[in-house]
Amino acid sequence: MRLSRYFLPTLKETPSEAQIASHRLMLRAGMIRQSSAGIYSWLPLGFRVLKRIEQIVREEQNAIGCHEILMPTIQPADLWRESKRYDAYGPEMLRITDRHERDMLYGPTNEEQITDIFRTTVRSYRHLPKLLYHIQWKFRDEIRPRFGVMRGREFLMKDAYSFDIDKAGARLSYNKMFVSYLRTFERLGLKAIPMKAESGPIGGDMSHEFLILADTGESEIAYHRDLLNIDLTKRDIDFDGNLQPIVDTFTLKYAATDQERDPVTEKNLGENLVTGRGVEVGHIFYFGTKYSKAMNALVTGPDGDEVMVEMGSYGIGVSRLVGGIIEASHDEAGIIWPESVAPFKVGLINLKSNDADCDTACEGMYDALGKAGVDVLYDDRGERAGVKFTDMDLIGLPWQLIAGPRGLKAGTVEVKCRKTGERQEVSIDSALSMLSQ
Ligand code: ATP
Ligand code: MG
Repeated sequence: MRLSRYFLPTLKETPSEAQIASHRLMLRAGMIRQSSAGIYSWLPLGFRVLKRIEQIVREEQNAIGCHEILMPTIQPADLWRESKRYDAYGPEMLRITDRHERDMLYGPTNEEQITDIFRTTVRSYRHLPKLLYHIQWKFRDEIRPRFGVMRGREFLMKDAYSFDIDKAGARLSYNKMFVSYLRTFERLGLKAIPMKAESGPIGGDMSHEFLILADTGESEIAYHRDLLNIDLTKRDIDFDGNLQPIVDTFTLKYAATDQERDPVTEKNLGENLVTGRGVEVGHIFYFGTKYSKAMNALVTGPDGDEVMVEMGSYGIGVSRLVGGIIEASHDEAGIIWPESVAPFKVGLINLKSNDADCDTACEGMYDALGKAGVDVLYDDRGERAGVKFTDMDLIGLPWQLIAGPRGLKAGTVEVKCRKTGERQEVSIDSALSMLSQ
């Protein structure tokens, strides 16, 4: 992509409405534009990142046999009346009336909708287990939308739902999803901590939130210091025998008030206790027959009886992750994208546009990298070098490839790693082969 023809409205000034780094940087890097409180348009650079995150989430859901569907954003209120959540949900739900005076709503989540699909299509235990997900916009009229896309009113969520014949099956689905989440966050370049969460009226141990560490996180957390050093994703999938004890031992919810704190666990952890703040990026939840009972989702069991299906739901905040990744990975100069989600891999900087040597060398490298399948953003604008450096650091592409008249005379260009700041002067050929890997 040539920057001269792209749409990248970067800002020099720090927008005053943004309180945290990721929000500031997303606005300054021209990734998003606010439409109204907590509602954003995604501009090309931001949209590319959003889509890359979405794709990683998708691949890891598909990998555990979870099938993608797409449910609507607008749902009939009657479904939510069946589950008794229409009144219970409160003012966070955006309620709409259509021209025939029918009550509709903009979905904040999709348990009712998926249960309705299930009950009208699946009749026998032979078709279980089933895992289904979609990646769709949600609306929650948050009382205090803030921090940009981190707590928006309209936001993109991956929500998956599991259907099993019994609790043992549901546990297996839950565990599959648990491991898939760890893999997803690892691929996104994040260290996510699974924490036991409130599991509501059903009780049990099957609810976890996944948090990434960030000083600006809304949740206060405490964990065993070893948790950060254990590679949970490499472990055997035998979650019950292997993974569960580790996670159980090392995580706890840090309660909001002193009364709610868990002094036993804190004392047990002793010197290993680390406290901090985190951003919730995912939440998995087993809720048994809550919806199948309310909405009559029955299947025929092995001995001919009607059985209520056991369900779970599994969310990932796809748009929140864009901000979350920036919170976890930035410096004074701007964003530092992990390669897996970067909008482009390489930023090519022509230090002297309109200089014949510089233009020829840059055009050649741009073509060669394009042919090798590398995503390149080529800064071919007639701007000063300083402006190009500042913008490139701000938008945070993992690699910068810098060509100027002096280097080219000696046959070299510069390759800079955005993360470490390390620079190497190398020949054009070796730069191309380094960046094509
Ligand atoms: P929170 O406690 O942050 O409000 P939640 O418990 O309401 O989250 P869930 O209903 O579990 O969230 O939704 C699944 C995921 O969707 C969350 O883990 C989070 O990543 C994301 N999410 C929830 N609310 C928002 C929001 N207002 N803006 C952006 N992402 C959100
Ligand atoms: Mg919420």
